[in-house]
Amino acid sequence: MNNADKIYKIAVSGVQQLIPYTPGKPIEELERELGLTQIIKLASNENPLGPGKKALAAIQATLPDLALYPDGNGFNLKRALADKYAVDTSQITLGNGSNEILELVARAFLTPGLEVVFSQHAFAVYPLVTQAVGATAVVAPALNYGHDLDAMLQQVTYKTRLVFIANPNNPTGTLLNHADLEAFIGALPDTCVCVLDEAYYEFVGDGRIGSLPIATLPPSLAVESADNSIAWLKKHPNLLITRTFSKAYGLAGLRIGYGLSSPQLADILNRVRQPFNNNMLALAAAEAALTDAEHLQNTIAVNAQGMSFITEGFKNLGLEWIPSAGNFVLVDLKQPALPIYEALLRKGVIVRPVGVYELPNHLRITIGTQEENQLFLQALAEVLSGNV
Ligand SMILES: *Cc1c(COP(=O)(O)O)cnc(C)c1O
Repeated sequence: MNNADKIYKIAVSGVQQLIPYTPGKPIEELERELGLTQIIKLASNENPLGPGKKALAAIQATLPDLALYPDGNGFNLKRALADKYAVDTSQITLGNGSNEILELVARAFLTPGLEVVFSQHAFAVYPLVTQAVGATAVVAPALNYGHDLDAMLQQVTYKTRLVFIANPNNPTGTLLNHADLEAFIGALPDTCVCVLDEAYYEFVGDGRIGSLPIATLPPSLAVESADNSIAWLKKHPNLLITRTFSKAYGLAGLRIGYGLSSPQLADILNRVRQPFNNNMLALAAAEAALTDAEHLQNTIAVNAQGMSFITEGFKNLGLEWIPSAGNFVLVDLKQPALPIYEALLRKGVIVRPVGVYELPNHLRITIGTQEENQLFLQALAEVLSGNV
């Protein structure tokens, strides 16, 4: 061991073992590596339409104030969220992406010796935040690629402080029945916080898997008709719902998300966050994005159309996929996915391998614009026919 490497030995043990999150490959990186010019990225569940006009205008209007610290309490954005969801501002925690909320809840409730329950194939950030604080991850086996709530409940003990559930789940896109989910939350002991990660909430529509019917609904009904977990907050002070502006709202680059919970749970999370964890541009853009119903509806419609188009393409190629309630879909290649992923990269198409999720034969595809979806299906057909 060289001298500089000795520093690893004194890091806390969870961090010594930690393997950081692998993000989707950035477009610039592939450009540098392969000298390609036309690249499409369908790898990180970003909004293919980009940010909305209202968010961009709000950013522009905020630029002259950048020398000042942002509002550390995010008053205006909390007010807007509280109005939208009929909750009190004291129930809201703003985060630097909803990922930060996941980290805050881990820091506030876990120590070594305590346990966290989540599902096989669940979002990769859950094991990371657990390990970083030295707590123990208990992984329940999945059922049909989704959460098996009974299996999860069986793993809950007096040592369990957190349960993470993503609904819809990333990367599988599976959606839980809301009655089952509420019964699960009700069955948890009050010594355990339930984190319900709804990063893809806006895409769920009327709760039917596959997103197909959304485009046919009157726009104002599309989001509202999704079963609303927020009503459960009144009954369950140990429930934390997390949502984000990164996906349907098209603001992933700004890093802003939020938690909704009882005021007491929000108070605990707000104690451990940094005083200025949300930057000024993000606060302004998120607030404006909430008023941009048109952009949200376009996003949902483009996603629903793209989902049918891509899954139809899979069918034509003889491929199976997991029906998804999100803005992405897992396709089953029935063979190791990495070589296919790499062949797609050489054609300028970035998708997401999911080997770290114990799904080595699947690729996760983010639904793009019609043009991107076409290019992707074309490239996939070429790769699979050996024309690489
Ligand atoms: C994308 C995603 C998030 C959060 O992303 P942020 O950009 O940090 O808000 C959280 N959970 C799941 C399941 C996701 O896929």
